[in-house]
Amino acid sequence: VKYIEKGTFPDTRRSFSVMRCNHCENAPCVAICPTNALFTRNDGIVDFDDANCIGCKSCMNACPYDAIFLNPETDTAHKCNYCAHRVDQGLEPSCVIVCPTQSIVTGDLDDPSSNIAQLLARNNVSVRTPEQQTRPKVFYKGADSANLDPLASRIADDGMMWSETRYPRAVDPTRASTARTTYTTEHPMPWKGMVSAYLVTKAIAAGLLVVAAILVLADHGANRLVVGLLAPTLALVFTGVTAALLITDLKKPTRFLYLLTRSNPRSWLVRGAWILAAYTVIGAVWLLGGILDSATVVEVVAGPGALLGAATAGYTAYLFAQCEGRDLWQTPLLLPTLLVQALSAGAATMLVAGVLVDLPGQEILRLSLLGGLLAVAALIAIEHTAVASAHVEVALRAMTRGRYSVRFWLGGVVVGIAVPVVLVLVALGVSSAAPVLDPVCGISVVIGLAAYEDAFVRAGQSVPLS
Ligand code: SF4
Ligand code: SF4
Repeated sequence: VKYIEKGTFPDTRRSFSVMRCNHCENAPCVAICPTNALFTRNDGIVDFDDANCIGCKSCMNACPYDAIFLNPETDTAHKCNYCAHRVDQGLEPSCVIVCPTQSIVTGDLDDPSSNIAQLLARNNVSVRTPEQQTRPKVFYKGADSANLDPLASRIADDGMMWSETRYPRAVDPTRASTARTTYTTEHPMPWKGMVSAYLVTKAIAAGLLVVAAILVLADHGANRLVVGLLAPTLALVFTGVTAALLITDLKKPTRFLYLLTRSNPRSWLVRGAWILAAYTVIGAVWLLGGILDSATVVEVVAGPGALLGAATAGYTAYLFAQCEGRDLWQTPLLLPTLLVQALSAGAATMLVAGVLVDLPGQEILRLSLLGGLLAVAALIAIEHTAVASAHVEVALRAMTRGRYSVRFWLGGVVVGIAVPVVLVLVALGVSSAAPVLDPVCGISVVIGLAAYEDAFVRAGQSVPLS
């Protein structure tokens, strides 16, 4: 139950609203769940099955209402399931029975003679964030709109219950005070450092074969050491690290094979696992070509390798798009951003490897890095000027002026883009300085990418949903 207060003493008012799973008709939690642990029953109840849950926490980012939590006793996702076990016995949900003022009414919306259907027909009702198009099935009669809009009331910055609060600029810049949230539920951020790190290692893994394919195009396919052996080996190692990070971040890591054995093909977590598996196979074939010293094999797999590299880099854009609760991640610019990040991460890693081996096509690698970095900078700049919603504005503010601003500006922009762009330009102009500048530049890109991804992942989840 969320409590909010409005007004100034002595003219104040407190109101209450029950926040719960809406049993959405178009439930994003069901679409994203990779193992069908969340599912919609024939009667419309969105239920869960502990035995299938791998604890990936995707559903927590997919639900736009913060209705799902991780049960610390089972390490699986739980939520209101409309007391499905009671409904199956012909009973009403427990909340209906226990509510002393009959504030909760349940029933069959499809039966026009039911009490609930008649209540809805006779009254003006609201739902939470209808713009998410989830078609929620919890309707509020007489609720204060500030109760239902998570950005319309705030907890004061000092955390005090009765402190004056101010409207977030994104909601209403003209008003000085806002409703106070005096009691609410907030769940811990589901995805943190492991997911940021996964984005970095995956970008490196994906970019390596893309960059190696560019070297093949530039007639370096016969370079066995770098193109035939080093590039696919590093790509396979970073793909393995990516998979390890994904598995470690599961609350039920021993169930990770459920991704393949109990899979929901609609989930981009499952599709991503298939793409990573295919990328591993093409990387292994590429490496085999290098071991056999067969430039023909390397040249044949270069095209599919580059395509699967792009798929490996880009599928996360579709996974994040399924996280309907996180508006920042819905940007159509995420796919091109991930692709050019992978290009620059792959080129940067090759330039670092140049400390150990003689690289072919060094100029091509530097130009790929430069092009990738400039494209990343342009895409980030566009993203920060074309703000799609109040939620996006709040998230961008957290990223550029709030908690994550050091990671964004110092890490992502200065260390990740500005410094390497200068270094690569100097290396292109002064070839004698390149052996020193190339690896420094490569390391700077990877550190900056890690900082940027962390700011992006956390800022996206920093916007309150209930
Ligand atoms: S998206 Fe959220 S509110 Fe909708 S059915 Fe899933 S858990 Fe419930
Ligand atoms: S945590 Fe993952 S596996 Fe479990 S219900 Fe949520 S989406 Fe499904």
